[in-house]
Amino acid sequence: MNIHEYQAKELLAKYGVGVPTGYAALTVEEAVEAAKKLPGPLYVVKAQIHAGGRGKGKFKELGPDAKGGVRLAKSIDDVKADAEDMLGNTLVTVQTGDAGKQVNRLYVTDGVDIAEEYYLSMLVDRATGRIALIVSTEGGMDIEEVAHSTPEKITTITIDPASGFQPHHGRAVAFALKLQGDLNKQAQKLAKQLYEAFLALDCEMLEINPLVETKDGNLLVLDTKMSFDGNAMFRHPDVAELRDVTEEDPAEVEASEYDLAYIKLDGNIGCMVNGAGLAMATMDIIKLNGAFPANFLDVGGGATTEKVTAAFKIILSDPAVEGILVNIFGGIMKCDIIADGIVAAAKEVNLQVPLVVRLEGTNVEKGKEILANSGLPIVPADDLGDAAQKIVAEVKKAA
Ligand code: GDP
Ligand code: MG
Repeated sequence: MNIHEYQAKELLAKYGVGVPTGYAALTVEEAVEAAKKLPGPLYVVKAQIHAGGRGKGKFKELGPDAKGGVRLAKSIDDVKADAEDMLGNTLVTVQTGDAGKQVNRLYVTDGVDIAEEYYLSMLVDRATGRIALIVSTEGGMDIEEVAHSTPEKITTITIDPASGFQPHHGRAVAFALKLQGDLNKQAQKLAKQLYEAFLALDCEMLEINPLVETKDGNLLVLDTKMSFDGNAMFRHPDVAELRDVTEEDPAEVEASEYDLAYIKLDGNIGCMVNGAGLAMATMDIIKLNGAFPANFLDVGGGATTEKVTAAFKIILSDPAVEGILVNIFGGIMKCDIIADGIVAAAKEVNLQVPLVVRLEGTNVEKGKEILANSGLPIVPADDLGDAAQKIVAEVKKAA
């Protein structure tokens, strides 16, 4: 689960982390009110979307010369003009894809005089089973580019969960950032506060880019992205409340309501499978046959008619889908029950695209009979390879 920059900064501030003062705004009036509460004379108006690269982004509705999604404003009138420019318009950045994202919230902050920009992030490193702290003196710009061309400028420090954060970790962070004196001490303290926040909030990733040194000698978090382990959100109802579903793919939001694991992909063959491993294998074998899956969808163990219907609807809500492959193993679930569900669901959604169904497991013969007698043009398949070949052929035939 992701949250907005202003929400992440509010959370971090609770752990003592220094952030510029700022206020979220949903309207132009709120943006002006926010600016009035700040000391000025420099303000920053920041588009709040779940994507980075906002500063260099472009608004679809504005000309190519218009400023991006992070703007320095030198007066309250400028804040007003920027808010009018941004709210409701679509910001396209390297992370949003061509469709871009509509800006519905702004964050108006106190403008900072920047002396240096650094990079710091933390993530759960599955390879070492530890939390990794990644630091670089090359903040503000594209960190992927730094990793590619000057990897020696990136330092990774891992923290053993058994002993936790130790003073030497803080010193290593400050050393990697080449900081002296008081700034060195601030970096050590900051690293500890971030680690505490990361653990306590069950974060998956925390990225600060840039972490800035101000002209008056303070370290401040100027931009941050934070994501959480979705499976731990039951422990953090206050964090779960920060979810902004308007930032998420509507089909994925709907799928989560039915407890379906759905991820939209770019291909044209919709997949409905039970079990994540079988779903991955199904996607692979579609590719092996020269086509591309339109989605990953795991209906889970208890695939009821209601769930299967919801799954069909979600798959078909993607206009790119030209055929559906259902691949279900009836282990806990019996194949005849699944077949009933598929038939009922296909009738309810008035299925217009080819449907190939491969069933295997308990009561498979009964299940196949139900499909055959349904009166629907369902193409039965015997095994996974057969199913993939058939759906690819059907989609080609229909095109
Ligand atoms: P991103 O483009 O989505 O990563 O948004 P950021 O919040 O990182 O802002 C992009 C850039 O705008 C930063 O790297 C800074 O160079 C600049 N910027 C953001 N806030 C301020 C500020 O308060 N003062 C100054 N001088 N520059 C800022
Ligand atoms: Mg940034």
